[in-house]
Amino acid sequence: MTVRAKGLDHVAIVVRDLEESIPLWRDALGLELSEVEEVPEQQVKTAIFGHGMGRVELICPTTPDSGVAKFLASRGEGLHHVCIEVEDIESAMDSLRKAGAPLIDREPRSGAGGARVAFVHPRGMRGVLTELRQGPSEPAGVSGSRRRP
Ligand code: ZN
Repeated sequence: MTVRAKGLDHVAIVVRDLEESIPLWRDALGLELSEVEEVPEQQVKTAIFGHGMGRVELICPTTPDSGVAKFLASRGEGLHHVCIEVEDIESAMDSLRKAGAPLIDREPRSGAGGARVAFVHPRGMRGVLTELRQGPSEPAGVSGSRRRP
């Protein structure tokens, strides 16, 4: 079995106030704000900077009782998760499971932009919540062209 990870897809930082936080990354740091979106299934609002691999995602809870809201309440603002783009999410999940890393999702679920995602518990990843992502198939080598429908 071969598991191949393509690299870092994005890092997600949890913030208390999205609108207040955006200027720091967009204006002070100069990253391109590519998208602001509400994701009702996860009860968060997100701002994504950059395109393709290596994006920065700010996430802000929209309700006080979501998982992200609880994370924010107990740990404060900071790194929430890293996301690794993989070629085959099922085999990556299988491989991590065999390596003793507990998965939060038993099955891949649908994520932004038609991707399939699954989360690995921080307990199994040296303290960092880790998202696995298998993006919709696209021509190899294309970056900066990933758009949501
Ligand atoms: Zn993510």
